[in-house]
Amino acid sequence: MCTSKDICVIIGASHAGVNTAFNLRKEKWLGKIILIDADPELPYHRPPLSKTYLTANTSTTNLLKPIESYKKDNITLLLGKKVTRLDAVNRCLFLDNETKIDYTKLVLATGAKPIIPTIEGLKETASYFCLRTAADIVAIKESYNASKTKKVVIIGGGYIGLETAASLKKIGAEVVVLERESRILKRVATAVISDFFRDLHTQNGVQILENKEVSKVENTLENGVKVTKVHCTDASYFTAEVLIVGVGVIPNTELAKQAGLKLKNGISVANTGETSNLNIYAVGDCAYHYNLHYKTYVRLESVQNAVDQSKIIAANICGNPLIYNTIPWFWSDQYNVKLQIVGLAENYTDYIVREEQDKENVISVWYFNNDELLAVNAINHTKAYVFGTKFIKESKKIAKEKLADTSIPLSKDIAVVN
Ligand SMILES: Cc1cc2nc3c(=O)[nH]c(=O)nc-3n(C[C@H](O)[C@H](O)[C@H](O)COP(=O)(O)OP(=O)(O)OC[C@H]3O[C@@H](n4cnc5c(N)ncnc54)[C@H](O)[C@@H]3O)c2cc1C
Repeated sequence: MCTSKDICVIIGASHAGVNTAFNLRKEKWLGKIILIDADPELPYHRPPLSKTYLTANTSTTNLLKPIESYKKDNITLLLGKKVTRLDAVNRCLFLDNETKIDYTKLVLATGAKPIIPTIEGLKETASYFCLRTAADIVAIKESYNASKTKKVVIIGGGYIGLETAASLKKIGAEVVVLERESRILKRVATAVISDFFRDLHTQNGVQILENKEVSKVENTLENGVKVTKVHCTDASYFTAEVLIVGVGVIPNTELAKQAGLKLKNGISVANTGETSNLNIYAVGDCAYHYNLHYKTYVRLESVQNAVDQSKIIAANICGNPLIYNTIPWFWSDQYNVKLQIVGLAENYTDYIVREEQDKENVISVWYFNNDELLAVNAINHTKAYVFGTKFIKESKKIAKEKLADTSIPLSKDIAVVN
């Protein structure tokens, strides 16, 4: 049991860290809670960064919690402070190698950072930006507002790159998305979804170019305007005043490595959130965990995962054993289209596409491993997302011929009664 003398330190004050802090109080953690983040901003929601925040005139972020809530729950916030050293033997850590902080329990909610591809000339390009923090988006907005041609090149056709393309298009940019793979969203979705979003972007005037591997970035002057030439391996090139890199993230594991924790595509944790050190837990984007439903190890980059895991970690730290057992879900907003995803579509053997009759752009893709429903991608189709979630959770067998027949409305009758 915890006492008022115990200290729980949480490194990372984003979705995972902030929720862990508040859940610790709900679980009756009696001691101190110290929440540290290198980011100087009061913790904010990240999903709106590539969506509404990019298009808004305001520089106000959507806060995860109002400042008063931290005071009320007696959570000490140390913002703009980077933890540079972790000494797991003596249970302490150091801020910028100086200030020492002791802990009884430590939570690593260190998240992930953008991958910077090794492209010649990229690092020397003043107008290249990543997409992770509020400061990144402010910098993109400033550079875009100052640009004369409003030409933007985005390297990477994943969800974040595409959301950014849609948002910048909304405010009048001329956007080109360069994707190395044969189709956008290849890593995460089937060709039906890729085709849908390629068409959507094309209709909205964004150029989506696949099979385009960027090889070099060159900074030049054109008619007195500083522009960046983005060269591809096929000898084509694209000019831009703003260059955005959205090619994925890698987990922040440096501190975990220092502490000698077990690592594998992130910080390895048990279903309780505990790492290989019994006083250290990991949560959110940095945590590599076992999904009980899919019987596989995963590292998820979603708000759902960060929020749900934080409840489990807080309960376990406070001595209330709970295990993590949820079905992942995720969403993406582009233009007026909402994509909702439930489940993991890994290793599917077949899929069924439903385009609802008389409804434009209401589509769902149902992924199966033989008889098992693995995941659903629902475009403007909350009903499909809700039924999909229910069927996956309950491991329902689906009558595939009924599902494929769009003259039959989507309902619980799609599931075979056992
Ligand atoms: C632009 C954008 C759009 C997104 N859209 C969606 C969406 O639509 N739906 C969805 O589900 N998810 C979305 N995501 C993903 C979602 O935001 C992440 O999954 C979520 O933020 C993970 O939270 P986290 O707390 O685990 O990690 P992070 O949000 O990465 O936070 C980790 C924090 O740890 C801090 N930190 C790391 N190391 C140190 C250190 N040594 N010292 C001090 N501080 C440290 C970092 O500064 C950071 O603030 C989006 C992400 C981005 C960037």
